[in-house]
Amino acid sequence: MTMNDGSRLIDNLQSVRGRIADAARRSGRSPDAVKLVAVTKYVGVEIARRLVEAGCRDLGEARPQALWQKAEALADEPIGWHLIGHLQRNKVARTLPLARLIHSGDSLRLIAAIEAEAAGAALVPVPLLIEVNVSGDASKHGFRPDELDALGEQLRQCRHVAVTGLMCMAGREGDLESARRDFEALRRLRDRLRSVWPAAIAVDDLSMGMSGDFEVAIEEGATIVRVGSALFEGT
Ligand SMILES: *Cc1c(COP(=O)(O)O)cnc(C)c1O
Repeated sequence: MTMNDGSRLIDNLQSVRGRIADAARRSGRSPDAVKLVAVTKYVGVEIARRLVEAGCRDLGEARPQALWQKAEALADEPIGWHLIGHLQRNKVARTLPLARLIHSGDSLRLIAAIEAEAAGAALVPVPLLIEVNVSGDASKHGFRPDELDALGEQLRQCRHVAVTGLMCMAGREGDLESARRDFEALRRLRDRLRSVWPAAIAVDDLSMGMSGDFEVAIEEGATIVRVGSALFEGT
């Protein structure tokens, strides 16, 4: 990746934003109803900084160490960091103060570790999405859909965790029809959990959709899309 042609990055960003807005309108929503998280895991600090200068305020990293490193290097920029990949329990303490939203609440043990750390450090409740393995793919993280009902009571007891919604990855990359079924399944789960989980738990956000399928995800109700490679094509 070179920095010679910064204009390509800006063109890509404008194109992604335009596609997000069009898909939002197709789903009967305002373009503002869908947040773009620009995934910077493929690029270094300077390219990430260009995205911020172009108006991206939400950046995502899949690995906690990479998030720490970029958050430190870009501490002077107004960035909200999103952890979108698996969080190991021994990395919770260092990640919580840096992350605006953790998308990868994928096990009870992790949620308990976040609760304990946030309680001990007297942090404000930690914004968290529950990751769901909607496709049932054994290689993917996340709760099984049939585990979610019972999770509500456990989440209610975690006073230092603020669940705001659900996250998923489509099972088969490149297959848009199967991706659409996965995204639709996540939306239906959210709608159901609104009446099953204790009312104190907000379940609004749907973090779903990546470079290959974000428009389909928005059509199925995504409120947050996580887009990386489409921003960096040709740069
Ligand atoms: C890398 C990654 C993305 C972005 O993927 P692209 O296809 O490059 O847009 C989104 N979500 C997660 C969890 C990722 O790890």
